[in-house]
Amino acid sequence: MNLPVDHLDHLVRGSWTPSGGGDAELPEHAAKWLAARTGFVARDTPAAPDSALAVADSALPDSARAALTAVVGDEHVLLDREARLGRTGGLSYLDLLRHRGGGEVTAPDAVVVPADPAQVQRVIEVCAAHGVGVVPFGGGTSVVGGVQALRGDKTSVVVLDLMRLDKLVSVDPVSRLAVLQAGVVAPEAERLLAEHGFTLGHFPQSFERATIGGFAATRSSGQASAGYGRFEDMVEGVRLATPRGEWQVGVSPASAAGPDLKQLIVGSEGAFGVITEVTVRVRPIPASDRYEGFVLDGWSAGADAVRALAQNGTRGTVTRLSDPTETEVGFALKGGWKMNAVRAYLRARGITDPCLLIIGWEGRTKADLTAARKATLRTLSKHKTVSLGQAAGAAWRHGRFAGPRQRDALMDAGVCVETLETATYWSKLDALRDTVREALTTTLTAGGHQPVVACHISHTYETGASLYFTTLVPRDLTDPVGQWAKAKQAACEAISTDSLGTISHHHATGVDHAPYLPREIGALGVDVLGAVKRELDPEGVLNPGKLI
Ligand SMILES: Cc1cc2nc3c(=O)[nH]c(=O)nc-3n(C[C@H](O)[C@H](O)[C@H](O)COP(=O)(O)OP(=O)(O)OC[C@H]3O[C@@H](n4cnc5c(N)ncnc54)[C@H](O)[C@@H]3O)c2cc1C
Repeated sequence: MNLPVDHLDHLVRGSWTPSGGGDAELPEHAAKWLAARTGFVARDTPAAPDSALAVADSALPDSARAALTAVVGDEHVLLDREARLGRTGGLSYLDLLRHRGGGEVTAPDAVVVPADPAQVQRVIEVCAAHGVGVVPFGGGTSVVGGVQALRGDKTSVVVLDLMRLDKLVSVDPVSRLAVLQAGVVAPEAERLLAEHGFTLGHFPQSFERATIGGFAATRSSGQASAGYGRFEDMVEGVRLATPRGEWQVGVSPASAAGPDLKQLIVGSEGAFGVITEVTVRVRPIPASDRYEGFVLDGWSAGADAVRALAQNGTRGTVTRLSDPTETEVGFALKGGWKMNAVRAYLRARGITDPCLLIIGWEGRTKADLTAARKATLRTLSKHKTVSLGQAAGAAWRHGRFAGPRQRDALMDAGVCVETLETATYWSKLDALRDTVREALTTTLTAGGHQPVVACHISHTYETGASLYFTTLVPRDLTDPVGQWAKAKQAACEAISTDSLGTISHHHATGVDHAPYLPREIGALGVDVLGAVKRELDPEGVLNPGKLI
């Protein structure tokens, strides 16, 4: 069988970097800066070798195994240790920590790899008939426990890996529509669409590994959301395999035929069915693009400028504001910038508390781009802004997918490093940022260690924006799991108390956010989701323990 080995490998190793090292190294200047800021002392804590991880024997009943084999073939029901170990969970800090000896590793009883939507449907039916849990698995980049191999009330669970559903099914260039199978990885989707002159325009930081089905299942949002929209805005239709049979939705660009059921499937995180195909809206590949950096003085000034851009329609395709701490972290970790020289340059221009704003414009023609850029600059001219030019834009663009490798390097050196995200209305944005920063800082300040809590806005709307937090603190050697679990809980409480913000703007609910969902959608909302789940999945086999 033709399994892409490296695809399994990065998950087995518990890191983004397949080798568990290589390009994942913490530069000396970054270690020095961390030591000064947090009390960090560099240590060597690489991912544990696979052999050190315990995997229980498969509990998949022989009858279920035989039925699954009859559907997909013996070679596509994987029971070996490596395959099962490679599908134990996603890529949150706690997931990665488990691979470093920080906790228990829960492996599925088998990994099933169907070839097409018809086989997916039959696999679901077999699992429902045998009472076997099913975890749909795309790129496995979930950071909220969405792909944890939980059994729920079942005695066994299989991971349904969508990697063989990797085809572009059709393109309708007149309507600008494409049908992609769920397991197509984002770079491959872009490559396949580019052959027809189109792009999807969906570039999350997990772009290199995440899949079309995963994006739809989690309501993902990419770095160019200001120009292309969130993933759910791109979805025109969905094909879903459920224990009750196949369900297809989406026949026209808009409809008044009742509620939009497509949006009930988008974001259902594998709990209502397995998405096998997604019809997406595509756009012509832009003829030109340009990225620039600007600096504003302080968070409030930066947020005001970004709000103005969002509310008067002059945002770029990418519009991303870092707070002063994230600006400092960016300069310190990259090291390519001479920090003191940049600071002096900015101080001379009246900027004492720099906030980096990256704007990227894309245009179907050069003239389109020039007009869009001029409109943005007109808005920015009403705010105190210093331009850093295209070099800063190019630097951001160059490193836009580097975050996961940097995280590996930081983890190897003994840093607790994790992100979390939320969103709210503009009028509550400062309060939300303050309360989450306070929660993280208070819980993580201990034993002479001081956390760095950085924040940025990368998704804006007329009515509000997302906030994305990155936290760095020396790892607590005695209780590394508890250290982050307490901080995350405090942040989730801060977000969800009095509905200050949403528990997730784009990472989804998974296991980690499930306790906070009732506060956001109400008891009736939970009942509605429960009723839909019971209707589509009466045996409760789909993704046990996730979403609801
Ligand atoms: C370093 C890093 C950076 C990230 N950056 C971003 C970002 O910028 N924006 C963003 O939105 N997210 C981001 N994420 C989160 C993650 O990449 C997204 O949630 C992504 O949409 C998941 O896609 P996937 O294919 O990896 O799905 P998986 O992780 O495999 O699955 C995610 C969830 O969807 C379910 N699922 C997957 N495929 C299907 C299917 N075909 N049918 C039904 N259910 C399915 C799974 O069971 C699970 O509950 C990031 C994650 C990491 C590790």
